[in-house]
Amino acid sequence: MSAPCALCGATWGEHRRVVQGETLDFCCGSCGDFYELAIVEVRRATGWPRVDRLFIEEVDGVDGSGWARFGESRVEFDVSGLPDGSKVTRFALRSPPSGAGPRGG
Ligand SMILES: [Zn+2]
Repeated sequence: MSAPCALCGATWGEHRRVVQGETLDFCCGSCGDFYELAIVEVRRATGWPRVDRLFIEEVDGVDGSGWARFGESRVEFDVSGLPDGSKVTRFALRSPPSGAGPRGG
């Protein structure tokens, strides 16, 4: 049995690829494609140099919501894409990154 899909958590399928230098398991190529696209969107929105972990928690058709983490910072986001994972059609952070910026206050 392979590890759960890094994007959606599905336990079926065996698609493995290297993302950001890390070997990850996905259920299918579409999830792998979308994972990489979502990381690009998260990095663009947050300014992070990389994303340590990203997960899509809820998917309703082509619309999903998930979270991403870099160090101690974490963001939640809404994302939409094509069914085959080839393109992100909408991406929006729900809130600014937590744990980032000046401390105190
Ligand atoms: Zn998947």
